[in-house]
Amino acid sequence: MSSVKEFWVNKFGGTSLANAQQIMKVRDIVFADERRKIVVVSAPGKEHKEDTKITDILLSCHRLIEKGQPFDELFSVVRKRILAIAEALNVNQNKMGKELDAIYVQLPKEKSANYAGSRGEYLNAIMIAEAFDATFVDSAEIIFLTNKGQVDEKSYDKVAQRLKNIEGRIVVPGFYGTGEDGSVKTFSRGGSDISGAILAKAMKATKYENWTDVSGIYVADPRFAVNAGPVANITYSEIRELATIGASVLHEDAIAPVRSANIPINVRNTNDPTADGTIISETRDIKLANLVGVSGKKPYRKVVLEKYMLNRDNSAKKAISNFLEHNNYTVDVVIEAFDTMTLFIYGDLEEKDLKLINEELLKSVESCTISDELVLIGVVGEGLANEKELVKRVSNKVDVPFEIISELSPIKMVLSFALEDYNTALNALVDLVVGK
Ligand code: ASP
Repeated sequence: MSSVKEFWVNKFGGTSLANAQQIMKVRDIVFADERRKIVVVSAPGKEHKEDTKITDILLSCHRLIEKGQPFDELFSVVRKRILAIAEALNVNQNKMGKELDAIYVQLPKEKSANYAGSRGEYLNAIMIAEAFDATFVDSAEIIFLTNKGQVDEKSYDKVAQRLKNIEGRIVVPGFYGTGEDGSVKTFSRGGSDISGAILAKAMKATKYENWTDVSGIYVADPRFAVNAGPVANITYSEIRELATIGASVLHEDAIAPVRSANIPINVRNTNDPTADGTIISETRDIKLANLVGVSGKKPYRKVVLEKYMLNRDNSAKKAISNFLEHNNYTVDVVIEAFDTMTLFIYGDLEEKDLKLINEELLKSVESCTISDELVLIGVVGEGLANEKELVKRVSNKVDVPFEIISELSPIKMVLSFALEDYNTALNALVDLVVGK
């Protein structure tokens, strides 16, 4: 490590490592550039759509154990997959067999699901380190999590201390570390992205390459939006805004560590390493595009409450928010005017919820109107303010009724549509953003 001036952290997701063939692609990528020094790996993911991720199988083992049921059969699925990878990679199968035996013995002794959930990354990293002739460093030694599942700041020093003198490549399992009680603790699902970001910051990497199975961040989810292609550049803020309205590309908590250290993230495709992917950084050239992304979240209900001078009636407002909080309703948007308050409640609400909301809120206001199910779609871009004619352009482009919720952030405009118009609206907005 010490001999190399510039280096990158590379994180590979579960589909990039689903089998030995994928791992060999990763090997080619890593060996193609000597700056690819630190490799963070997920557990083997899905080879085919209908497969189950190793992480999920391990978590199911833990659930069986909790219920007092045998887990041998399920664990043998993990064993088989790991040993098949080991064999194809020419990795010591005996050693992997022993690792699997130790996990099999330990699983019933663990109270929480964290240990089980983490073992896919652990096993995969050991195999990949051997196959890449690299040093394996267990993340339990260097990454620490708070009780809330967030990174403990002391991790940065621990990482730097442990890795700084290692020569050659290093492979670190993603997704977990050590919790405050000293036992293995995982981040939330998809958390290997966070591990990669922590390592990048701790080691002062010049780039964080995040390798997945798509060629970067798309203008919108390409499964639903025909003309959505990858974007070359996007800012951290734009990514955040897209995430709050449904887009999921990177784990949300993976942005903060690299952002504070000003390290760009490059999202790339293991299956198409020639594609440049997307660079996520603090700024981008908005002259090239004012807007970059569209994403939608559903279902929502719009609840309009009316009462004379409602905005000054603190006890009514308090009763409303207490009720919503108490019943765990997710209110994503609140718009207050003099005599009205409009709420957008996220999630599947049943008839009994609608009745309860109506009855309870009518105790504080004069009228309460609840809409049919809606989808909120956000159009995001650092150049939003330059799009003076945007509403007019949206009206021309989108053939279905919509309502503007507001510009909830200076870089995001949110619109609401009837649920059945989701696809039409999404495609029209994507076309508007990509200039079709
Ligand atoms: N293997 C974990 C998951 O499936 C973590 C990750 O892949 O980032 O969520």
